[in-house]
Amino acid sequence: MLWLLVTALLLGLQLWQHRLQTQRQQTELAQTVQRQMLEKIAQHKAHLTALTALAPLQSAQNTDQPNALKRVAQSIATIYPRIESIDLITASRPASGSCGLPAAMQLAGTLAPTESASLPDTLHAGRYLLIKKIADPAGWICVRIDSAHLLDADSLPNGIQLRITLDGQTLLEPAAMQAPQVLGQFTLGGYGQPLQVQLLSSTQPWFSARMLWSSALLSLLLVGAGYLLWRSRQQAHAHQQQARLLANEARLAHAARINSLGEMASGIAHELAQPVTALLSQSQAALRAHELGKPALLATALQANVREARRAGDILGRMRGYISNAPSQLQALDLAQAVQQALLLLEGPARQAGIALHWQPPIQPCTVLADPVALEQVLHNLVRNALDALQQSATASPAITITLTEQARQILLSVQDNGPGMDAATALRAFEPFFTTKAEGMGLGLPLCATLMERMGSRLEYRPTANQGACFVMQLPRAPAEAGEGMTRQAHLEP
Ligand code: ADP
Repeated sequence: MLWLLVTALLLGLQLWQHRLQTQRQQTELAQTVQRQMLEKIAQHKAHLTALTALAPLQSAQNTDQPNALKRVAQSIATIYPRIESIDLITASRPASGSCGLPAAMQLAGTLAPTESASLPDTLHAGRYLLIKKIADPAGWICVRIDSAHLLDADSLPNGIQLRITLDGQTLLEPAAMQAPQVLGQFTLGGYGQPLQVQLLSSTQPWFSARMLWSSALLSLLLVGAGYLLWRSRQQAHAHQQQARLLANEARLAHAARINSLGEMASGIAHELAQPVTALLSQSQAALRAHELGKPALLATALQANVREARRAGDILGRMRGYISNAPSQLQALDLAQAVQQALLLLEGPARQAGIALHWQPPIQPCTVLADPVALEQVLHNLVRNALDALQQSATASPAITITLTEQARQILLSVQDNGPGMDAATALRAFEPFFTTKAEGMGLGLPLCATLMERMGSRLEYRPTANQGACFVMQLPRAPAEAGEGMTRQAHLEP
């Protein structure tokens, strides 16, 4: 589209230039032709003057053809082929041929001595007669001129011809010219030969295929060059944009690193809070047992401390693994034992809060592929959340039920409570880092649990319950040697 527009524009420009150039050339040509023809007719006048000066000799010699006049006339005719005849007409030498035409005789009769005039030669096509009246001898000189030779043959460019008229009669008509167009016209005055001259050419097409092609080619080049320029600018712009984007990305990545550092620090604090609290209370219990002199109680408290310190160490180790992106240490482990281990720490708080913990270990060992520390951590978090929810609500007969369901390839371990549960908006955001509805919550428990489960190739889901409460389901892959499915086991551990 753009190319067509530019082509049309260039074509218009070319046509306009062509028109201007043609007009200038035509004016120059008309001026050249006029100058050359004026020179020629001025020569005729000069010849007549010379012949007039020679005419009295003829009278003196009284011969038929005076030698001097004859010689001059011959040399003029030789040098100037357009001058075909020169005749001296006197009483003793009457006019004959073209000079004897009535019109010529009549014209000569009207002329005053030394005056000259011309008229078309009706006997010879393309010729005109130039007549000059002389006084001595009384008579006139008649010169016949071929109008076709008033201009040198090579003076006109190809395709341009002349039309010459005299007294309304055409002397010279252009040959075989269709719809001739007048390029210029003028009248040659001042030398007794008022010839009207027209420069004619056959009608030129105003538009040529060459113009179209050259315009199309030029516009193609222009549009191409314009496109390349535009492309290079676009590319430079795109590079600038990319550089800006990269700089922004680098800034964002830096900010994200700072954020995740903060997130990790919060996560570590959150996870360590539980064993550290347990260490504190067990240490206080140990001190008390020492004061009371009860070594058995002291040993129990110290054993609990050892367990909690190990757990804290395990958490720190796992966090290190989490930060370094190390894969989980998967191993085949007895799920019942892992659940039992996690519940050991929660039985006390549950009992104190008056919340029942329902769990029945399976009769047959149930082996899954999991990281024992991560598994225990997830289970601990889920039960801890259920305890929080039940403590903050006035649920009658609050209870937490842990259920183990075996399937072909998976084992489902669900933690369900009969507390207030989560509304749709909370359930949607519960796994977002830092989302919490608790006054002292950190909102990192569920996101960390989900991450740990994913690392183990397992999944953690929240499933809304039909009646009341919240239900979180852990889907764990069965260890390869395990078999059996469709068994559901459940136990009741009363507080
Ligand atoms: P935090 O315990 O620090 O709030 P979590 O990520 O563990 O962080 O939990 C996010 C939110 O999910 C809790 O604030 C709570 O609103 C909701 N939630 C988790 N477990 C339960 C549950 N058993 N019953 C009701 N709401 C729960």
